[in-house]
Amino acid sequence: MKITEHLKNAKSTLFSFEILPPLKGQSLKELCEGIAPLMEFNPPFVDVTYHREEYIFKKHPNGLLEKVSTKKRPGTVGICAAIMNRFQVDAVPHVLCGGFTKEETENVLIDLNFIGVDNVLALRGDAPKAERFTAEPDGHSFASELVEQIVKMNNGKYLHEETENSFHTDFCVGVAGYPEKHFEAPSMKFDLKYLKEKIDKGAEYIVTQMFFDNQKYFDYVAKVREAGIDVPIIPGIKPITTLGQITMLPRTFFLDLPDALTDELEKCKTNAEVKEVGIAWSIQQCKELVAAYVPSLHFYTMSKADATYKVAKEVF
Ligand code: FAD
Repeated sequence: MKITEHLKNAKSTLFSFEILPPLKGQSLKELCEGIAPLMEFNPPFVDVTYHREEYIFKKHPNGLLEKVSTKKRPGTVGICAAIMNRFQVDAVPHVLCGGFTKEETENVLIDLNFIGVDNVLALRGDAPKAERFTAEPDGHSFASELVEQIVKMNNGKYLHEETENSFHTDFCVGVAGYPEKHFEAPSMKFDLKYLKEKIDKGAEYIVTQMFFDNQKYFDYVAKVREAGIDVPIIPGIKPITTLGQITMLPRTFFLDLPDALTDELEKCKTNAEVKEVGIAWSIQQCKELVAAYVPSLHFYTMSKADATYKVAKEVF
């Protein structure tokens, strides 16, 4: 079922989450067992990320491990099929511009349609290793172009074909939004102009980058509405669970942690203490968002259910 239908049918805020395909050499069983407890909260959909870069570790005879980078982490399509089958949820694969030609995108979308996927999140993706993003030759430069391709397929228009096909896909397309602005955009106004382009081209809902200050989400929703966008805006939630994330999350995702949260986190000496603070903060955040009737709380689990479970147990 389409995300828009799930949201329309919902009587209260939904619970949803994002997982990563396992690294090469790790099993599907481990992933499924890891997320199984979250099914208690009846997620209607689960997102499966896509990664342009994959690290594998090569073991040398002297025992040392070497980090080897390869292109594209496999598994997104397979994991979607597996979780739909095993948990009876809708899977939402992330589809990227980066690393794909238009034809490769078309082929992935055909496979996704054949396995019964009804929704995709269309993203540009980042450049590997903090370089400047460049599209593949004959690939897309911006997520709006990818949205356009998906919507054309929904209308029966494939690449290199003049005529309309009788069979066509019917994907519901979501896109990303940034309550603290996308890091490359010179201003929020600029970013919203291109968010609107994604919606005008046919995207039907927005999932936000994680944020830790609800006011940023509320202000963002107001600005998005002022920009003439009326689709649902699903907030992204991430409970902080390790000491490393205190600096890694702001640096990687270009966001601020509120002073009240960093004051608490600074007192922590161990990951266990950080996790306790992170979970308590998320619970508070989620309760306020539910009271504001947000469409769904969408958790960035990084495929680890524990913290998300503890938050959801208090909120749903
Ligand atoms: P776009 O919407 O294309 O925007 C990128 C930048 O270009 C913005 O600054 C925008 O303002 C600007 N822009 C847009 N159109 C134009 C234009 N026509 N002219 C000039 N400027 C323009 N990354 C992954 O690799 N894999 C994932 O699975 C993944 N999942 C994500 C899920 C969510 C919910 C979010 C919020 C992000 C996710 N990302 C993922 C990260 C995402 O790929 C990056 O944030 C990326 O840098 C931007 O992607 P986008 O789709 O928002 O890009």
